Amino acid sequence: MEYKESKFNMYVKHHNQNFIFNTMRGSLIQVDAQELPILEHFHQEFVDHGFIIPSDFDEIEYLKQKRIKAISNKDALYVRILTTSFCNARCHYCYEQGLKQENMNKDTAIDIAKFICSISQKTKFLNICWFGGEPLINTTVIGIIINYIKEHHINQNLKIASSFITNGSLINDEIVYNMVNNWYTRDIQISMDGYGDEYNLIKNYVSPNYNFNLVVENIKKLIKTPIKIRIRLNINRENFEKSKQLIDYFEKVIGHPQNFKIYPGFLFDGENNNNKQIIHIDEFTLKKDFADYLNNHGYSCTLSTQRRNLGCYAGRIDNFLITPNGQLYKCAQHYADKKSYCLGDIYHYNDIDQKQWIQDDLLSKCLNCICLPLCQGGCKAARNTHLHLQVCHTTPEEIEYSVHLLIDQMNDKKRH
Ligand code: SF4
Ligand code: SF4
Repeated sequence: MEYKESKFNMYVKHHNQNFIFNTMRGSLIQVDAQELPILEHFHQEFVDHGFIIPSDFDEIEYLKQKRIKAISNKDALYVRILTTSFCNARCHYCYEQGLKQENMNKDTAIDIAKFICSISQKTKFLNICWFGGEPLINTTVIGIIINYIKEHHINQNLKIASSFITNGSLINDEIVYNMVNNWYTRDIQISMDGYGDEYNLIKNYVSPNYNFNLVVENIKKLIKTPIKIRIRLNINRENFEKSKQLIDYFEKVIGHPQNFKIYPGFLFDGENNNNKQIIHIDEFTLKKDFADYLNNHGYSCTLSTQRRNLGCYAGRIDNFLITPNGQLYKCAQHYADKKSYCLGDIYHYNDIDQKQWIQDDLLSKCLNCICLPLCQGGCKAARNTHLHLQVCHTTPEEIEYSVHLLIDQMNDKKRH
């Protein structure tokens, strides 16, 4: 059989040792300098782990087929539902500023549940992300939607999971009980912007009753449950040093329970600036410094090494963001872009045209990119909203950074 080298081999030098990481297979191998180039030093292991492939295997076509399958995969449905667009915080960077503020009412909640049932008849797995505004301002509709789906869905074996994106200030014992026992909650993302008074200043809550200490107490309540807690720590160059204080604090008061993770959030804002330029603070050095800080404090933070079949959920058929009045968008960034039109609403589903979002239209730049298996073409919203930008999900530097971490982890395991 004829062989060729995979397009997705990344050569990484780690403490003078040579490694190859394959972004398609996620495989990692150490090689001696004498074994390079690998095609001239054929070894079955290179073939088994995808570093060398049969010459008639088209990796780009393989990834395309994976994407096409994922776009129309009806096994899983992901919907992001805004129970409200009100919020009890007033972060200066909030991209929802200027959007209409309203709570979902009970009738709309039932209609949304019916809509979900109608578009998910072949679905095995339903994932609902509760979003806002602050979703916990309006919890009544959560119960209504979940109960309706449980009772009326055609597939009585439907697996439901839910997650929350919340500031954490309204969590109480009753809500924790419902999350665990009634709302199928698997994970909660709590956004934080610094430590103590710095946090209070940025969140600018409508009442001093909501504050940093309360959110930390609420996190402690959640730690005792099986729910995964992910702290999204919003960082940029300016607050980076201060954000370290929060990591130190969490290490002291929360420690390292299995269900607690901190990860960096980079403010991604398509509208709140006059130049119509995206503020996408994703400089690699900043991410790396932050990840290093987390890793050195016992909070594992890799940047990216897992293959994905599609850029994101917005690129799949029938995956929507649903507003409090039942309007449909493809994702939060699409909703936040005040110049983009919504696709329609739950009452006129048949008129919806989501073609632009679900077509497989990668740029030639992506087809020649070593990151393609881990990124699959970047953010659709950045391209499809008025921004018309290409925003990559990852970069070769990020992947290389994660490979160094992987090697360190492997070496650690060997030592113990
Ligand atoms: S979006 Fe960027 S990282 Fe992703 S495949 Fe395209 S060029 Fe590569
Ligand atoms: S289109 Fe972009 S902003 Fe929207 S979910 Fe996908 S990656 Fe995120």
